[in-house]
Amino acid sequence: MALAYVSHHGCSTRVLTLMPYSKDVTCTSCGKPLLADTELPRAITDIPSPFAMQRDTSCSILIKPTNGSFMSHRLGENLHVGVSDRESVVYSYAANGVSLEPSGWDMTLIVFRLNAITLNETLRSFLSDHAHYFTRDSYRENGWNCFDFVIHFLAFAKLGRHSKAEFTRQFVTGPLRSAHRYTALVRKVVDNGPVIVNA
Ligand SMILES: [Zn+2]
Repeated sequence: MALAYVSHHGCSTRVLTLMPYSKDVTCTSCGKPLLADTELPRAITDIPSPFAMQRDTSCSILIKPTNGSFMSHRLGENLHVGVSDRESVVYSYAANGVSLEPSGWDMTLIVFRLNAITLNETLRSFLSDHAHYFTRDSYRENGWNCFDFVIHFLAFAKLGRHSKAEFTRQFVTGPLRSAHRYTALVRKVVDNGPVIVNA
């Protein structure tokens, strides 16, 4: 799923569409088909997706909605956060304790990059030192949760001490805003077909 703006060269009409598009629109500047027409040269500007596939997340801290995907996520709904190691296996803490997941983290947002050289070793020592803090029994959805796991990992890796609120403000809010902007555009096109944005 890729979003792009398409226009005819020399026309001021721009259309927001998913690529590949399923439906054509008429250029309001020249009256010719804008998407299907092959005679008129076109300018296509891709809108970069803020999301990453899990295989591309190695050595990062990443977030995804606790339930569902970012396509249906609304501001204020819970997020799950984890640490992706050198092989893009994601370590995170949830109701069933700490899990290591080689899949299930596609379409996620990277919020922090980590040092590749020492990451796996640091993660291993963090887990062996802190296993008793992050158990199934100690987990509280609105208390001791995945954010505590990541914040304590950052402190352990000497990457700063953060409160949950400050971590969210500093690293999560910006990428989350980009994600919501992007999914709002996708929804608009999915619901209405290609959208003329200026004419
Ligand atoms: Zn045109």
